[in-house]
Amino acid sequence: MSMNLVLMGLPGAGKGTQAQKIVEDFSIPHISTGDIFRAAMKNKTPMGIEAKKYIDKGELVPDEVTNGIVKERLAQDDTKDGFMLDGFPRNLNQADALDKMLAESGRHLDAVINIHVEPDVLVERLSGRFICRNCGATYHKIYNAPKVEGTCDVCGHHEFYQRDDDKPETVKNRLDVNIKLNTPLVDYYQKQGVLHEINGEQDIDKVYDDIKKVLTNLN
Ligand SMILES: [Zn+2]
Repeated sequence: MSMNLVLMGLPGAGKGTQAQKIVEDFSIPHISTGDIFRAAMKNKTPMGIEAKKYIDKGELVPDEVTNGIVKERLAQDDTKDGFMLDGFPRNLNQADALDKMLAESGRHLDAVINIHVEPDVLVERLSGRFICRNCGATYHKIYNAPKVEGTCDVCGHHEFYQRDDDKPETVKNRLDVNIKLNTPLVDYYQKQGVLHEINGEQDIDKVYDDIKKVLTNLN
């Protein structure tokens, strides 16, 4: 019985929230690429030292090094009964490397959870933030709208602006990059028969119910 998972989802799909619920419920380590990179560099592991060379120069870390860092992490004892990868693999080369490193230790992926939200909904979610020009209070048109439309709750002024990062065009570009990376991976795992598409356009709790159903049925 094992629970070796990959969690996928585009920015804004709610991956972080669901990741937290999964690791709490199923007691498996949450292996996020950002965290293991920081840890590997801090602990000066062989791959951590390699990665630091590129990061210090402001260069992209090559797949071989990223794969090596994941491999080091997956060799640790706490992953024996399962793990949840988050942010890895990012491309087919990494997916292939993951399959190989798991096979080397007699393991395989049990499920890939893809939290699916339509891109236009993601743009809505990610570009909703705006700020009061007078007092700097921040709002979100879906999650945290002013009580009276067009009027700041805090200071009563009526002028708002959006930061460049929160503008729909910027958000769309960022999403496109991620969609280009994600689509081939989704196909890859679909073909392997391990992909589970979860409707991420529901309430947070309903999304989690659907994930939990998938994970409970793995055993
Ligand atoms: Zn204000």
